[in-house]
Amino acid sequence: SFRALVIEEHDGKQRANFKNLTIADLPDEDVLVEISYSTLNYKDGLAVSGKGIARRLPMVGGIDLAGTVLESKSAEFKPGDKVIVNGYGLSELHWGGYSQKQKLKSEWLIKLPDSFSMQDAMAIGTAGYTSMLCVLALEKAGITPDKGEILVTGAAGGVGSVAIAILSKLGYRVIASSGREETHEYLKKLGAAEVISREETMGKGRPFDKERWAGAVDCVGSKILAAVIAQLNYGGAVAACGLAGGNDLPTSVLPFILRGVSLLGVDSVMAPREKRIEAWSRLATDLDKSLFADMTRVEPMSNLPTLAGEILKGQIKGRVVIDVNA
Ligand code: NAP
Repeated sequence: SFRALVIEEHDGKQRANFKNLTIADLPDEDVLVEISYSTLNYKDGLAVSGKGIARRLPMVGGIDLAGTVLESKSAEFKPGDKVIVNGYGLSELHWGGYSQKQKLKSEWLIKLPDSFSMQDAMAIGTAGYTSMLCVLALEKAGITPDKGEILVTGAAGGVGSVAIAILSKLGYRVIASSGREETHEYLKKLGAAEVISREETMGKGRPFDKERWAGAVDCVGSKILAAVIAQLNYGGAVAACGLAGGNDLPTSVLPFILRGVSLLGVDSVMAPREKRIEAWSRLATDLDKSLFADMTRVEPMSNLPTLAGEILKGQIKGRVVIDVNA
């Protein structure tokens, strides 16, 4: 048998508990993977804390995984292949990465890019791959480094940290917005030219404010995203991927109709395979691996219940890799 973190219902509430499973317990999918690492994302925090992410029970948590194929009914993968999965409804509809073994649909797997170890790939994880999707969205909207400054909100979290590192390597001048004073030095090390507080990010708090940003990556949503939209330069764009500050959006049409700004929605979960492969290949070239040591820590799977609470409170810095065998 092997260990997994299983979400079940007790007294009408979802709760996560460690359990011993056997191969026979796993879903009937075409590839069996021996998992080395998973990760901790905001959504994992919600799932492990029983906040209703799991839409089928029992559910094995973990939206990311990196591992080695043990058995495969798909011609595309063979035993020994190193693979990763990000999203695709893992921890919602399908059993995920908080397990030492898992059965998965071959369509969800991508081969581990050559330039990354499994631990590197999970240092990136869904958060980092989403950061790259945000950068690709900004590029597609024509936001080049010469257009002006790029704001990253929720900067010291997982998506924010990786976004800063990528954007600064690509030559953008990056301004980090963080609510945590103690992260300023860290954010500068990742490549932020300046760090501003959440209050400063709010500007005048009006739906149409002074122009300030050529582009932005927003992990926070709600009032912060509204303030970002209000302060985009003429023709600017914000890639919106998060809701750490709330899922509402108290904005107005003014920035859209008077400045032609764009709100670019970013989804990692159901992103098509070609997009994922593009994002991972860009991560291989445009993310400085020497920053992983500052940006990442490895934690044993047994610490997940504590870590889940911390990420929901905005207390996690950078990325957490989960060693499912520790
Ligand atoms: P994370 O590590 O917890 O980062 C979120 C950051 O947001 C925190 O570190 C904090 O940064 C800031 N924050 C937290 N609570 C806040 C609040 N109440 N008001 C303002 N700022 C707050 O989480 P993550 O894994 O990077 O994910 C970030 C967001 O992106 C989450 O909402 C997640 O669900 C979303 N996401 C979406 C996709 C997608 O496919 N669209 C993929 C991955 C993640 P500071 O301390 O620096 O202010």
